[in-house]
Amino acid sequence: MLLIGDRLERELPVAADAVRQVYGIGSTLRQQDCGAFFPPRAFPGYGIIRDLPGLYDALHLPLGKRVLILTDRDLFLGDQPEDDWIFGYSQGGVAVVSAARLRGKEGRPQAAMTVPDQRYRDRLQAMALHEIGHEVVRNPRFTQAQWVNARTGHRLALGLHCTDRRCVMYEIVDLRAPPPEEGWVELGGERRADAGLDDVLERRHPGWLCGACHEAIRAGDACQEGPP
Ligand SMILES: [Zn+2]
Ligand SMILES: [Zn+2]
Repeated sequence: MLLIGDRLERELPVAADAVRQVYGIGSTLRQQDCGAFFPPRAFPGYGIIRDLPGLYDALHLPLGKRVLILTDRDLFLGDQPEDDWIFGYSQGGVAVVSAARLRGKEGRPQAAMTVPDQRYRDRLQAMALHEIGHEVVRNPRFTQAQWVNARTGHRLALGLHCTDRRCVMYEIVDLRAPPPEEGWVELGGERRADAGLDDVLERRHPGWLCGACHEAIRAGDACQEGPP
């Protein structure tokens, strides 16, 4: 796997360790500005590019190479500044994790570290494992998740996730699960009020994944190891 740091450096080996330990996937580390793939929004933050061939071209990667980008940019899937920000996403062999909201006690973008470094590292590892997991964990019991804004009714599709609340493939929408008056996650039609990253870290399985997800690891399926 190619692990790219976009305006981040020391985070790369932290993520690489977790990905190697849990999925058995080794990483080649590289620093590269990825601003071309994250267009600036009308509000502070960056969008994502869904044009995968363009992304591979711009990164000078062989098509099909598994990639994890760790970025300092605050990323948004849609146009709602309050609802559509994301910790990360994954598509077609490219996983992206944003560190912008991982440094503080609340899930706001900030440069200053206001939580213990170990907490920051744990959050990074969880998100790297989660986004790579979307590529390599083929658990047939994964269920569609949605974020529902209680005030506006706005819904954001979040994709297939594990229903085990101690698993790193459980849906995660903020550092702490938002109060019900703000919104909730719907997972297989059920409301879940426990989709916080720190909540998952505090109750997680020792090996990060639940048993079903661990058995469903298919690390060799999509992409080959080797230099980019
Ligand atoms: Zn996910
Ligand atoms: Zn699981």
